[in-house]
Amino acid sequence: MTTWQEFIKDFSEMSIFLAYNINVDAIKVLRSEDIQKLIDEFGADKIKKRLDEYPREINEPLDFVARLVHALKTGKPNAVPLMNPELNSWFDSKFKYETERIGGQVGIIANLLANLNFKRVIAYSPVLSKKQATMFVHRKNLLYPIIEDGKLSLKMPLEAYREDDPLKINRIFEFRKGTVFKLGSETIEVPFSGRFIVSSRPESVRIEIKEHLKPFLPEIGEMVDGAILSGYQGIKEHYSDGKTADYYFEKAKEDIRLLKKNKDVKVHVEFASIQNKKIRKKVVKEIFPLADSVGMDEAEIAHVLNVLGYPELSDRIFNYNRIHDVVLGGKIILDEANLEILQIHTIYYLMYITRRENPLSEEELRSSLELATTLAATRAFLGDIRNPGDIKVGTKIPYNEQGEFVKLRFEEAKRRLRSKEYKIVLIPTRLVKNPVNTVGLGDTISAGAFTSYLALLREKGLY
Ligand code: AMP
Repeated sequence: MTTWQEFIKDFSEMSIFLAYNINVDAIKVLRSEDIQKLIDEFGADKIKKRLDEYPREINEPLDFVARLVHALKTGKPNAVPLMNPELNSWFDSKFKYETERIGGQVGIIANLLANLNFKRVIAYSPVLSKKQATMFVHRKNLLYPIIEDGKLSLKMPLEAYREDDPLKINRIFEFRKGTVFKLGSETIEVPFSGRFIVSSRPESVRIEIKEHLKPFLPEIGEMVDGAILSGYQGIKEHYSDGKTADYYFEKAKEDIRLLKKNKDVKVHVEFASIQNKKIRKKVVKEIFPLADSVGMDEAEIAHVLNVLGYPELSDRIFNYNRIHDVVLGGKIILDEANLEILQIHTIYYLMYITRRENPLSEEELRSSLELATTLAATRAFLGDIRNPGDIKVGTKIPYNEQGEFVKLRFEEAKRRLRSKEYKIVLIPTRLVKNPVNTVGLGDTISAGAFTSYLALLREKGLY
């Protein structure tokens, strides 16, 4: 087993490129009174009716309350885009946020990897306002690419921000297991800790690499050991200037090809909850096949299978979360998208699915997942990972109580499904009972898993 200390040593020689999404996360922890006040204001009947309609966008406050109640009832984390910018002031007058911190997968992963002492983290987002720049950790290994005198130059974000760039704020409502509230005559107890995200989608923020930087992507690809791409969920179907999702997906595909032009740098795509089915389908059908590695959680695997044309399997995973179905679904995604590796994180376990020919042994793959869950547990316990030494905390968090049961079910599933052509490994998660925060844990797992996977390939001289 490769230990976390050995991985940290490897990381100090590795560089990673990240694109496309950073934002500010405004976090509000919901107490029972906050929820009850909202329900009383809007009325249980109206909320239930809207809940049945299951709005996929927030256009008015009732959409928000209904989807929030749904998240609280199921305890499932979810994100819904805010389409009507006029509601910004409604949210800000209604809620007082406890903290503001860097968000977006690029923001979260950049700070994590920089604090883990990677050689270089090149973090790109098409917008970089001053507020966002100040929220990055101020370390020399965290850099933002700009073009100066026709050449690529890597600067610390505080030397690279643009005063007039727009700001994207996501509002995150954290909820705690065991919180009780009443919806009409029904008493609801929140079954799991988690969060509900209202993500802002300013029209001016486009998911893209700006044209002037594009010609330098092959050079960036050569400089790094891997790229983690995320944020496709922010692409809209139409824009007021006539551009469409197709336009941005063509650009996004071109970005991956350019990164890989001079060197076959491995690309990880981090999937996120995408409410719009057309956009979701484009990510799965057009972006996944260009990636080497993909990461997602259990709700997302169901969503992906749905757009791939497996609605029954998707429903089963959504409703019952059986390991057997997840293994089956994972194999389908690996094959359909022709991935090298698929990583799935759930509350009770982490899983890798690769092909039998993958050069890493099962034990090596498990040690990569082990690093991933240890990082997540550290973040859940401390709220943040400020330096590699913090990881000791994560190693002391026990595996969850379902761990042994999960392993048994997994062995059973492997026997029942013919999986000779695959290498599939699973480890139980180290689960913090009262997490300081749950935001960014999935991103932490995926970043830790992908980079440690690359480290293992490098150690063997295979990459
Ligand atoms: P996501 O839904 O993509 O944000 O991923 C959340 C993941 O974080 C889960 O699948 C778990 O593996 C992990 N996680 C969630 N809660 C905790 C916790 N309290 N302690 C440690 N890991 C957690």
